[in-house]
Amino acid sequence: MGNSEDTNKNKDEVEKEENKNVLQSTRTVIKRALDRLGYPQEVFELMKEPLRMLTVRIPIRMDDGSIHIFTGFRAQHNDAVGPTKGGVRFHPDVSETEVKALSIWMSLKAGIVDLPYGGGKGGIICDPREMSFPELERLSRGYVRAISQIVGPTKDIPAPDVFTNSQIMAWMMDEYSRIKEFDSPGFITGKPIVLGGSHGRESATAKGVTICIREAAKKKGINLEGARIVIQGFGNAGSFLAKFMHDTGAKVIAISDVYGGLHDPDGLDIDYLLDRRDSFGTVTKLFKDTISNSELLELDCDILVPAAIENQITKENVQKIKAEIIVEAANGPTTIEATEHLNERGVLLVPDVLASAGGVTVSYFEWVQNNQGYYWTEEEVEERLEKVMVSAFDNVYKVATSRKVDMRLAAYMVGVRKMAEASRFRGWI
Ligand code: NAD
Repeated sequence: MGNSEDTNKNKDEVEKEENKNVLQSTRTVIKRALDRLGYPQEVFELMKEPLRMLTVRIPIRMDDGSIHIFTGFRAQHNDAVGPTKGGVRFHPDVSETEVKALSIWMSLKAGIVDLPYGGGKGGIICDPREMSFPELERLSRGYVRAISQIVGPTKDIPAPDVFTNSQIMAWMMDEYSRIKEFDSPGFITGKPIVLGGSHGRESATAKGVTICIREAAKKKGINLEGARIVIQGFGNAGSFLAKFMHDTGAKVIAISDVYGGLHDPDGLDIDYLLDRRDSFGTVTKLFKDTISNSELLELDCDILVPAAIENQITKENVQKIKAEIIVEAANGPTTIEATEHLNERGVLLVPDVLASAGGVTVSYFEWVQNNQGYYWTEEEVEERLEKVMVSAFDNVYKVATSRKVDMRLAAYMVGVRKMAEASRFRGWI
């Protein structure tokens, strides 16, 4: 018992440290971006923390009759541009620091793809894998009741994130509509289509990553037909991406989940793997011949896509990374030191705040459709997403080349500028 408690304590400490580092490194890059753009220190002071951070305690009756008090958070980073927007994460490792960092990233993403939003984020410390459907419903509704005063279609619009899905969004929308006594589809995005969800939302992040891969490959003169791609993570982002890359004629030579990776230099059978994966994005347990996640990152390939968790490419393994292009579908997979090293080596790294912005873009489309009460076809959504992502990629690439900075710093420069200008015009700074 003593040992397992020690191990848990160490794990908690490591996670706290990692979250702190993620927030710290986001702030470091924001500071660099603001300095490059010539903004004074007070702009950084405004942007280094969310404007609002609500912590809530949610009592839920569990199926066995006991009461469990869950802790949840909602961070609203900056609403100078417009209402804040960002997902709600259900995960045992959710923390205040992580939610803060994620809300800042959402502000940057909104700025990069030029949406009329600021960034927000929410989370509940829980393990949905160990909860029943009715318990999850009670928790989702309880969370909305707890945060209802600070959210709303023109205030702060939640969405799905890790371990939350369209069913959870539907419960949350229903709860909010009951509290406000009018139907409010624009309160939340990522809903089922029959409740005002948008076509193309589920695969939007992967579509956006696919567009970034295609644009990056053009810059590097890599032909995607036959290009070797490695994807870490086989959840929502990773699995749709594997399918899209496979469909473009690229060779997905490795994928992984939390338990390990599968590798075949001749290309994996993606349709088969998609068929066998479970709803948590796991598939490798069905196979004997697996590799570790760290081996997967170091494989010989043309394009590497981390699509799982933070802090995967660090100063410890960056020397062994062989890809020419890295496109970050996950949030925060590469540390600042590793980014600098890759940049020096001429690796083209498309940062998370740009590469994974397809999800929030189609969430915005969903909100627009809800507000106007008129719905678009899948083709219309895809066409608009294509335009937004290509223009965002070009814009960031141009800033990177003209200002001689890496793509991450360039993306942050684009992302903070709109927020800083809106805050200035409002007279906040
Ligand atoms: P998901 O929960 O659907 O899938 C996560 C995948 O990563 C699963 O295959 C899981 O097994 C794997 N994984 C978990 N822990 C791992 C570990 N320690 N090592 C290796 N693999 C591990 O999540 P998702 O929605 O696909 O999101 C993945 C990443 O992309 C996250 O960083 C998320 O914040 C980011 N992202 C997702 C979206 C979206 O719309 N889904 C949007 C923007 C950013």
